[in-house]
Amino acid sequence: MRTLRLSVIDRCPHRCGYCRPGLLTPFVDRGSWLSPADYARLAPVFAELGVEKVRFTGGEPLLRTDLEDVLSAVRVGLPRADLAVTTNGLLLSTRLRALARAGLSRATVHVDTLDPSRYRTLMGEGDVARVLDGVLDAREVLAEVKLNVVVQRGRNDDELLEFLEWSRVHRVEVRFIELMNTGSAIAYARESFVSGREIVTAVRARVGARPLIRLRPSDPASRFVTDHGVVFGVIASDTEPFCDACNRLRLTVDGRLRGCLYEGAGVPLREAARTSGFEQLSALVRDAVAHKRSHHPSRGRRLTLFSMSERGG
Ligand code: SAM
Repeated sequence: MRTLRLSVIDRCPHRCGYCRPGLLTPFVDRGSWLSPADYARLAPVFAELGVEKVRFTGGEPLLRTDLEDVLSAVRVGLPRADLAVTTNGLLLSTRLRALARAGLSRATVHVDTLDPSRYRTLMGEGDVARVLDGVLDAREVLAEVKLNVVVQRGRNDDELLEFLEWSRVHRVEVRFIELMNTGSAIAYARESFVSGREIVTAVRARVGARPLIRLRPSDPASRFVTDHGVVFGVIASDTEPFCDACNRLRLTVDGRLRGCLYEGAGVPLREAARTSGFEQLSALVRDAVAHKRSHHPSRGRRLTLFSMSERGG
């Protein structure tokens, strides 16, 4: 089973201190974006490779006005795949039903604080109440909704228990994410980094944190349950990398395929998707996938500088 992460746009209205879209690399010109027709040609190739889960991310995927068309195109080529989105949630309520009709079944909503004024400081313009309303709407419509919280020392690490209480009340699982050093975040990560282990220790000291068995080895989150029965996840990509179990492929908005988030240039597929037949395109993708390996800095690889918004977090 493989997971495909499609970064369908590299733009985002937010300016999270660790991501800062557009800072390291100029935004991809709109004319170079993969179109729904491109996705329709690529999807069967990924189906053949055993992709069973597709996550639409970015940038902010809900800024793409044709996201429903992109989803429909992918669903036709990958009819058995589970379709998920990672979003900042600001437009979720507005788009939710149309996205569900197009095949969306899961959403992960990224929100680093529950406090309205802190939200503007940490993430940018936007109303956190609207984001959380979007989460609750999505909980009614989709099969699964989760929250992603990037934990940052001195900025939101005092909110762990508030998130767990919100999770208990609203029955939405929270995942606490370790800040990754992607190059757009070198200085920020240095001062704000909190390890997954520290996160678990802090929660355990207050409300308990009993480890749960990992359901799938490729699942990036270690899961725990508090003494109150609240299940939460911790994703420690830097201190506990899960490269050996990684089954992900990533495709950027301009059609570059990477087997690892940290890989350099990737394999360009856009032109091939437009000009080659299925067999040729399939051979190109299979070759790229055969060369999939970890480029994680923990494996001694040099860090290529990028922002998560380019490659899809
Ligand atoms: N706009 C959407 C959002 O806000 O979730 C999708 C794109 S965003 C790049 C996807 C995820 O990447 C978010 O959950 C965000 O927190 C995470 N992310 C971005 N930069 C990160 C970093 N340096 N370390 C850890 N997580 C990061």
